[in-house]
Amino acid sequence: MELTDLFPEKGEIQRLYCQNCGGNLDLRFPEFHEDVSGINIHIMGLPELFCEKCNTGYLPDDSRFAVIYLHEQATKKGSNLVNVTRNKTNQNFGFTDVPFVYDSDDYKYIPGLKRPFDEGFLTPVFFNKEVLLKYDSSPTYRISFASTTYGDIRQGDEFSMPFGLNKNGKVIMWLGDIARLPINEQYYLRSENIDSDHSIGSEFYDGQIECKFTDHSKEDTLFQCRSDFLESCFKRFGVKFAHLDDEVFEMALEFNGPIVDTEKERRHVTDTLNKIYIESFDNNALGEVLSTLGEDPKNLGSNKRLQKIMESIASVDDIPSIMCPFYVLYDLRVAYSHLGSKDGSEERLKSVKERLGLEADSQLNEIYGAVVEQLSSSYTQLSSVVNSGT
Ligand SMILES: [Zn+2]
Repeated sequence: MELTDLFPEKGEIQRLYCQNCGGNLDLRFPEFHEDVSGINIHIMGLPELFCEKCNTGYLPDDSRFAVIYLHEQATKKGSNLVNVTRNKTNQNFGFTDVPFVYDSDDYKYIPGLKRPFDEGFLTPVFFNKEVLLKYDSSPTYRISFASTTYGDIRQGDEFSMPFGLNKNGKVIMWLGDIARLPINEQYYLRSENIDSDHSIGSEFYDGQIECKFTDHSKEDTLFQCRSDFLESCFKRFGVKFAHLDDEVFEMALEFNGPIVDTEKERRHVTDTLNKIYIESFDNNALGEVLSTLGEDPKNLGSNKRLQKIMESIASVDDIPSIMCPFYVLYDLRVAYSHLGSKDGSEERLKSVKERLGLEADSQLNEIYGAVVEQLSSSYTQLSSVVNSGT
């Protein structure tokens, strides 16, 4: 390698995306060992941005300057050999007295985080995913999702703190944001705080740093519609209509549409949708709200409870048709889990397709697409029912 190769190209700004495939780069600290214009340079732990997919590394500007500097020093000394170990920056940015674990190298070497003011504010701090479930089940905090991997932790109307999940399922928040939390909350967060994995590429990064909003998959859109609906219900009734448990959240994160139309896939897809979008409703919470509205929740399942709540607050009379996709999903799961037996499953499946407005010979992917789209639309309509008159 020639020394001139190390000079950043004019006008080229190193970003978090691979120049080859456009994928996200991770920060890592490998060994640098190269002949640079006749000087053998060996550096342990030189920060590099790496694309796993292309197996390609990119040197951030500060790493390039470090090599150039070492080359210059060696030239001055008349030496043709450099052998050094780079020390990590390990800088404490302040902001809070709670001893969060983070890596100041992330702030310094991940593109887009450095600012001329508030040094260290945008340092990523990493947490176990469980931290979100705890906030979700807290009575004072809510989690609001813009997709399955990007959202806000909220309290009241004033406080909201963005978070994201990276590809390894770790939760990321900014150090400066965390410091705005009450001190006891910070200690609580600290208990789920883990070492950085230096992987920050996520919808969170795209939205927060690049102001880039990717088109959502229909699964992410549905998850967001659900979250918006739950938020509207909380604002109106002061009660959380649903919770995410570990299993359900895991399912939502990993969930994709069907690839093949097999019996196994049919069961998997409809079971998953059912668990996330129907079974996660808190039947007790729905029952309590229904009682306060003067209705009797006894012997009613969550779909019926939800429907009755909506009917008693709605000024429109088409709640049954808005709720239809919930019943369709339920029936679809029953039909698929008993298909082939003589208990009317074929009939049930036929009725599902009719209610979705599909042809009788529609396959799994069409049925799935229609269910997901119509459920999203139902959630949106239900949100406006809840929001109207508040
Ligand atoms: Zn790549």
